[in-house]
Amino acid sequence: MDEFLNNQTIVFLIVILSIALLLLLIFVFFRIGSLRKRLDESYQENLTINSELKRYETMYKNALSSYNKLNIKYDELHKNRESIRKLAYTDHLTELPNRIAFIEMLDNIMLTLRSDEIISIMDIDLDNFKNINDTLGHSYGDELLIDVTHRIKQVLDENDYLARIGGDEFVILTQNLKDTVDYEDKIKKVRNVFTFPFELSSKEYFVTVSIGVAFAPEDGKTAQTLIKNVNSAMYVAKANGKNTYAYFEQTFNQMLTDKIELQSELRKAIEKGEFVLYYQAQMDLMDKKIQGFEALIRWQHPSKGLLYPNDFIYLAEESGLIVPIGQWVLKTACLQLKEWTEMGYDDISIAINMSARQFKDKDFVQMVYSTIEETGIDPNRIELEITESVALEDLDYTVSTIKELKNIGVRFSLDDFGTGYSSMSYLKRLPVSNLKIDKSFLDTVMDDTSDQKIIQAIITLARSLDLHVIAEGVEREDQEKFLQDSNCNMAQGFLYSKPLPKEKAVEFLNSINL
Ligand code: C2E
Ligand code: MG
Ligand code: MG
Repeated sequence: MDEFLNNQTIVFLIVILSIALLLLLIFVFFRIGSLRKRLDESYQENLTINSELKRYETMYKNALSSYNKLNIKYDELHKNRESIRKLAYTDHLTELPNRIAFIEMLDNIMLTLRSDEIISIMDIDLDNFKNINDTLGHSYGDELLIDVTHRIKQVLDENDYLARIGGDEFVILTQNLKDTVDYEDKIKKVRNVFTFPFELSSKEYFVTVSIGVAFAPEDGKTAQTLIKNVNSAMYVAKANGKNTYAYFEQTFNQMLTDKIELQSELRKAIEKGEFVLYYQAQMDLMDKKIQGFEALIRWQHPSKGLLYPNDFIYLAEESGLIVPIGQWVLKTACLQLKEWTEMGYDDISIAINMSARQFKDKDFVQMVYSTIEETGIDPNRIELEITESVALEDLDYTVSTIKELKNIGVRFSLDDFGTGYSSMSYLKRLPVSNLKIDKSFLDTVMDDTSDQKIIQAIITLARSLDLHVIAEGVEREDQEKFLQDSNCNMAQGFLYSKPLPKEKAVEFLNSINL
């Protein structure tokens, strides 16, 4: 029985175990299934991640190469910007810093200027640079500017900064100045480099400069004020006859404003008929008759009254207005000569002053021709006056121009002789007919025996070259006597007559020559 029981229990246990095993198998089977599914899913996921990874990798590579390209572009841009900046700040002709660079430099210096520091600005402007450009052409003008740059550079030291701030305008900015007195030496050095001629087109040219000087902080606390003030000083140097220098003074600014105003009025003065010619008699020292008249311009200014040439001719020269004004002078003088001829005075002549700019104008000869033709006067009775400095500036041009007009009978005289180079050696080369001895000699001639000797030598030489000699500014009889004794043949001055308006000039003519 016990054995039967035991067998039954074992069978039961086996059945139970089998069932349990079966259940376990079923469970494991489903579990594997679900695990396999999850494995499949994660495999798929892995694949997607891998491809995503690849995609990102490509994107990264692309981005990297774009970044590199951008970097190269940035470098190029940077370089371009640098060269554009250099271009904008450099004067391409002389390779000096230009106006923009100079202003920026000065701005920076002024912002950090210590109270015990002095800086200076020297504004250097070439005189009559336009003449070179007009007569020789722009390429020689450029050559001159380069030569000027080299010469100025030679006198600079480590505290100087040179820039070209305009066509013919240079500045030297100097830092760490000890005092303003020593500065005179620097001006001297700069002016010295212009004492020997420049060679252009295988000829020699003398070039002078007008210099303005301003100091900071004394003459201005900002770059703007300093530039304005140093420019005023330079203009004052120009107005004082060029080839000189001026230190800035507060009164200069008013002068500059007046100047600008006068220049704009000058522009309208021709149309408004405000110019008049006065005539000063030129006397024959032997028979004391009037040989001719010199035409001298005056400006009947609406508010300032009668202005003299010294008040406005330099402005007319500077602005180029001298060309139309000179044309008006020539025509008006020719018409006056015609009037006198018609009155029966057919042997007097008329002298007309020519300014540098007018004489160097490319249409000058043509202008004289056509005025003579238009007014119908005898060219033999016209005398054009040029100063010796104008004549010598370009001797070849002067000689050929004078010859061209001499062909039709027009004569030339050398005005203000003795004030310029006064080199007698070139006199024989110049086909002029008259020499006008400057008033400054006459002023001292009676007290200064060496002046007497100079005048006598000039007269003797001129007469031997077949030139007429006119002494200017004769005011006293003792001067007249001296001139007569020295064989001078003509004289002009207050002793005989001041320059007169045309009606008065005719009266004077009638009283002397009739
Ligand atoms: P310039 O040609 O040497 O003329 C002589 C100047 O001396 C004139 O001055 C005249 O009035 C002055 N003068 C003559 N005799 C005496 C005298 O005995 N004593 C004194 N103290 N002065 C005397 P102005 O008319 O003021 O002319 C000055 C300069 O202006 C002229 O010097 C000439 O270079 C220039 N100028 C005059 N008219 C013209 C013109 O139409 N065109 C140009 N380009 N320049 C002119
Ligand atoms: Mg004259
Ligand atoms: Mg003169």
